[in-house]
Amino acid sequence: MSTLPSDAPLIEHFTNGQRRTTDSPRTIPVTSPVDGSLLGHALVATKSTVDEAVASAQRGFAAWKQWTVKDRVQPLFRFKQLVEKNMAELAELVSAENGKTVGEAKAELEKGIEVVEFATAAPQLLVGDKLEVSSGVDCHTRRFPLGVVAGITPFNFPGMVPMWMFPLALACGNTFILKPSEQVPLTPLRLAELLREAGLPEGVFNIVQGDRETVEAILDHPGIQAAAFVGSTPVAKAVYERGTAAGKRMLTLGGAKNHLVVVPDADPLITAKNVAASATGCAGQRCMAASVLVTVGDCSAILEAIENEMRLLRPGKEIGAIISTTARERIIGYISRAEQEGAKLRVDGRGAKVEGRENGYYVGPTLIDGLKRDSACVRDEIFGPVLSVLNVDTLDEALAIENANPYGNAASIFTTSGAAARHFEMHANAGMIGINIGVPVPREPFAFGGWNASKFGIGDITGNDGLHFWTKPRKVTVKWSAGAAKNWMS
Ligand code: NAD
Repeated sequence: MSTLPSDAPLIEHFTNGQRRTTDSPRTIPVTSPVDGSLLGHALVATKSTVDEAVASAQRGFAAWKQWTVKDRVQPLFRFKQLVEKNMAELAELVSAENGKTVGEAKAELEKGIEVVEFATAAPQLLVGDKLEVSSGVDCHTRRFPLGVVAGITPFNFPGMVPMWMFPLALACGNTFILKPSEQVPLTPLRLAELLREAGLPEGVFNIVQGDRETVEAILDHPGIQAAAFVGSTPVAKAVYERGTAAGKRMLTLGGAKNHLVVVPDADPLITAKNVAASATGCAGQRCMAASVLVTVGDCSAILEAIENEMRLLRPGKEIGAIISTTARERIIGYISRAEQEGAKLRVDGRGAKVEGRENGYYVGPTLIDGLKRDSACVRDEIFGPVLSVLNVDTLDEALAIENANPYGNAASIFTTSGAAARHFEMHANAGMIGINIGVPVPREPFAFGGWNASKFGIGDITGNDGLHFWTKPRKVTVKWSAGAAKNWMS
């Protein structure tokens, strides 16, 4: 909770087509991880603010559901162009509030745009089926929007993760309430303004700022039909359970512990660059980041190349900042514990400093070797630029380690052997597999989604599954021919 300094801007909600303040009893300070500066104070929506947002979205839905799907995607075409036109400003905003580099911010926005592009194909993708199922009797299907729906998003992709959700939900005819992470509330607000500029009617897209209190008000609200969530596994599980108990359709994506397996025949250069980039990109704060590197047999030359590659990555240049001081301390705690356990820090990112940004929250790339299999670094999602190395004798041992972890977002192998790659693809226990790719995020229309404790609910969040999640199918059986040969199911 914060005491509001007079010069700190309030970070508002967005309802009825405009930014809106409320007399919130609570606000949350938002600081820039880049340099520790105060960006503003985010309002926290209470139950009554969520009620107002639902009323705004319900009014929006009454009009929006009358639009044909062809009409509904027109604002999305214009929104894509506006995001591209304002790319430099948006990337700066993402970088300022999240801490990632401007280049990484641009890349996440471009990935978000891919989902917008996919959503603009809704007129083609939502076409129903029709078949004469008995003499003179036809069945056809038609997909309907659910109504008012919601999205709850994490701090690590302020632009992309909301764009996994709202373009598809809106194209399907729903109206949307977004609850962004309280750590990155500014980018979504700017996206809301661009959606309006693109011609999206009032009330179709809404934002409520806040934290757990706001999320629980959303989950309990009877006027909201479905919600998607992306965040850590314990919260994903709790949100899934509370939402489904309240009768909502839910899809909640959780955390990850991604394993990269390297075999001795791997190309050293490709492997080193990809592994280092996967572990350190977005300062390791992404659910697709490499976290455990399992080397099979003698990969010492490749490991040395990875170490050299990681040493080249400078905090504040190639590596962005960590979201908060709390998160930075947590990451440093993991590294120190590994050191105390006798592991070897081949690269140690503690004590990273960036000149001119002494108050920023940085951890440098960290490569830890000689860990025990039950070490916390091997077990937990660290969510920082830390790569833990294990060595085994066979590919099946590596797979057994990967299979035993409770998550299942991504797993990759680096090899020049097709047989090893295929064996890995068939036996790894994750929803997204990479072959010689460190961050195997599927491009649209191949959908995004993990397995096991990385996801609760059915289907993926983008691709055709996304269109199915945000719609309900109606099946219609029609008999116009009174004289049909068989009086089937009269
Ligand atoms: P988080 O779980 O702390 O927060 C996510 C959202 O939930 C935020 O909007 C937050 O306000 C809300 N929230 C937090 N605690 C809550 C509670 N007790 N009850 C209800 N709502 C609550 O996650 P984060 O720290 O913002 O993001 C990092 C996590 O997200 C990592 O675990 C990462 O792996 C995961 N993530 C997963 C994916 C994926 O696709 N699986 C993608 C991005 C991030």
